[in-house]
Amino acid sequence: MTARNKPSRSLKGVRRQYRALCDRCGSKYYNWQLRDEWTGLMVCHGPSTNDCWEPRHPQDFLRPVKENNKLPWTRPEPDDVFIVGCSISSSSGYADHGAAGCMKAGWEPGGPNMSYEDFATIYG
Ligand SMILES: [Zn+2]
Repeated sequence: MTARNKPSRSLKGVRRQYRALCDRCGSKYYNWQLRDEWTGLMVCHGPSTNDCWEPRHPQDFLRPVKENNKLPWTRPEPDDVFIVGCSISSSSGYADHGAAGCMKAGWEPGGPNMSYEDFATIYG
């Protein structure tokens, strides 16, 4: 019998003994046969009981390791670089079909009036 489940004594040395129910199995025991469990229940413990008391599992006390997801060094993303060039679709001579700076008035891509310079511009 451990010191924890010995009957309690009052100041005058008289053993205070009473009956109480185990919170888990519901059986009636003396107060010194019940023990406070980590769940907050008063459960029976020791010989001649149902021994409902259970210790808390050691893995309940494990703490997760903090993850370090930071990279050792970083640099800012560079600004976007736009390559401006004229293509066959941006060089159209029709209104609202070409790109600013690339349009050629009266020019019809691939048409019968296509010059050698225009062909070289398009097809390299
Ligand atoms: Zn019990």
